[in-house]
Amino acid sequence: MKIAVVNSGSSSLKFKLFEAKDALAHFVVENIGKADAKIIFAFREKKVAISKIVANHCEALKEIVELLKEYEILADFSHLDAIGHRVVHGGEAFVDATVIDDEAIKKIESLKHLDPLHNEANLEGILLALKMAPLVKQIAVFDTAFHSKMPKEAYLYALEAKYYENYGIRRYGFHGSSHSYLAKACANELQKDIRELNIITLHLGNGSSVCAVQGGVSIDTSMGFTPLEGVIMGTRCGDIDAGVVFYMQRELGLSVDETDEILNTRSGLFGLCGTNDVREISASGDANAKLALDMLSRSIKKYIGAYMALLGRVDAIVFGGGIGENSAILRKMIFENINFGILFDDDANEDSRKIISKADSKIDIMVIKTDEEQEIANECYKILES
Ligand code: ADP
Repeated sequence: MKIAVVNSGSSSLKFKLFEAKDALAHFVVENIGKADAKIIFAFREKKVAISKIVANHCEALKEIVELLKEYEILADFSHLDAIGHRVVHGGEAFVDATVIDDEAIKKIESLKHLDPLHNEANLEGILLALKMAPLVKQIAVFDTAFHSKMPKEAYLYALEAKYYENYGIRRYGFHGSSHSYLAKACANELQKDIRELNIITLHLGNGSSVCAVQGGVSIDTSMGFTPLEGVIMGTRCGDIDAGVVFYMQRELGLSVDETDEILNTRSGLFGLCGTNDVREISASGDANAKLALDMLSRSIKKYIGAYMALLGRVDAIVFGGGIGENSAILRKMIFENINFGILFDDDANEDSRKIISKADSKIDIMVIKTDEEQEIANECYKILES
């Protein structure tokens, strides 16, 4: 069975083709609509980067279809068994992967207000794929779905009930496909049943979140109503006293949109030291860069501590995402002065080995390359095989 997974971001489109559950080809179209757009394409041992202006997501998908044809990988989308789509926000309406029909489209549209930026792009990808392959089953996999079983005490904010009941204001959590993938891969690595494990998963990329996974179920996560809450991120501030927002508006005269832009796009690592690239920050001798790294590791450490307390017993802590998988410096900083029976293995960490704790450590620490598209494909295979 052949499945394609489409992951449409605001200015990028990722596309992965699977055959018999293995990835066959991988495309990333970056900077859509900008002068420096690029198509990166990996197939077998081949890796090609093509600089080409790609006007919009429709053009990006058409370019991918042409490359699939040119390299004789797939004649067209009608030869697929299903197309899986990443949809960021499923609200409370979607707690599982869902076959897309008119009703599902209407529901996804009705959730746009919760996350206009992501859901708009995700929906655009769905409508395009439907146009290109109207007879192929399309399946939506939601980032929020993995967190849908969190207990009420985890997902409610301490507000009057009407704000949740009438307006849906609650913690939803994000990066669900990544947290689910990391937890399953960790159980696999440990050769244990996931239902017996308590795991803390860390998805650390440009956007970052931490998740407490008990028996394979998310019981708490750091991102909230929006992806702004939680650990310090590339350009997002993470946890902040809501009073700061009122102060910025009342005392500094900033508008709602200006505050939104500042907290989401000009804060975090970028706001602290002028770049959100952890490679640059780690190599820099600049005092602000050093402070940014100290603050980042401290904010992640605080979530690990909180989730250790919530879970009561932790079997493994798993790092994934561009930063989690690659920054040995940050991983080391996070475990400095932590004891609790954790024995961090410096050499294994430097070598970015899969297990970076010592054999007699009470908690295994792991580095696993996350794969959201693989997780989405697995959800699609589950539906096709049911
Ligand atoms: P996104 O959330 O956009 O998918 P990624 O998961 O790809 O992001 O992570 C991107 C981030 O990973 C970059 O901003 C950079 O800070 C970090 N990163 C990538 N490679 C390295 C590296 N070798 N060392 C440290 N950080 C890295």
